[in-house]
Amino acid sequence: MLAVDRETAPSKTPETLPGEAGDALKQMGCWERFGALRFPVIAERSSTWGGPERQAISAVLKPYGLGWLVDRERFDAMLRDHARERGAVLLAPAHVRSFTASPPGWEVSVDDEVVRARWLIDASGRACWAARRLGAPPVRYDGLVGAYDPARFAGGEPARVRIDAAENGWTYEIVSAGSSAKVFFTDADLLASTGARVLPAHSQRAAHALGERWLAVGDALAAHDPLSSSGVVSALRGALGALDVILERDGARGRYAARAQTEYVDYLARRKLFYRAETRWPASPFWRRRADVPARG
Ligand SMILES: Cc1cc2nc3c(=O)[nH]c(=O)nc-3n(C[C@H](O)[C@H](O)[C@H](O)COP(=O)(O)OP(=O)(O)OC[C@H]3O[C@@H](n4cnc5c(N)ncnc54)[C@H](O)[C@@H]3O)c2cc1C
Repeated sequence: MLAVDRETAPSKTPETLPGEAGDALKQMGCWERFGALRFPVIAERSSTWGGPERQAISAVLKPYGLGWLVDRERFDAMLRDHARERGAVLLAPAHVRSFTASPPGWEVSVDDEVVRARWLIDASGRACWAARRLGAPPVRYDGLVGAYDPARFAGGEPARVRIDAAENGWTYEIVSAGSSAKVFFTDADLLASTGARVLPAHSQRAAHALGERWLAVGDALAAHDPLSSSGVVSALRGALGALDVILERDGARGRYAARAQTEYVDYLARRKLFYRAETRWPASPFWRRRADVPARG
């Protein structure tokens, strides 16, 4: 396997990984490596959503716990090391420039070289880079962005996550060992210029999950609202399903496409319910748009 990434390390906000991700990490054989990173566990999630009172969920009430506070640079480096150890070749920084079908696979231009591949996997994130060129441009559901002050965040225990609805969006704050990181989410056209770093955070999915010897995984397949904290776990689960397709296991293609469809329809329905629970700012364009979000994908 050849993996090509134009970045050597992701430049992301601190993220949370739900406890359910443990199963996918075990199946991938990197649970011990993950444990060795000793990411802080999340002790409490709380929110003011739908009313001014803060509602809290404690880790002891969830069978899998509330998950971990993850530094994506270290998390992604762990996954890359694991892949290398299993025989993958990683090129970074390197760009996939173009590709052409060359049965039974593909000719792919990576910087100045051409490589031959049996399968083409689009893991390009919201850019949906290959799927777009294969006639499966993403369907986009909103214009959400996250504005973030990239000051260094120390991270440590106990980590608490706070989500607070506001008139023109919502904030996501991680408070941990005396330091905190905060991201403000709103629609791109409603964001006042603040000097903060702005990251795309809209919901979208590829028009097709897979085609002849290509498939999309992770955000390239289906990108979620960060409110759901489900982007990484869904990317890991999707990668396990993609493996079955590439190994041409019986029925794997149909299962992959059907699962992508049902999971995203469920996700859109949950997202709609969640946003509709906040009714305090009926005149705000941000909340008005979400009072009428599509429930089907
Ligand atoms: C502000 C914010 C907060 C979030 N918080 C959480 C959270 O708390 N928990 C959670 O689970 N998820 C969270 N997410 C979502 C999570 O970041 C994504 O779901 C996850 O990173 C998807 O991984 P991916 O590998 O599919 O895509 P990405 O992480 O976007 O990686 C795609 C890679 O492809 C590379 N690439 C693209 N085109 C090319 C090309 N032509 N050639 C070479 N390389 C290319 C890019 O450089 C990039 O490195 C958050 C997202 C945002 C924006």
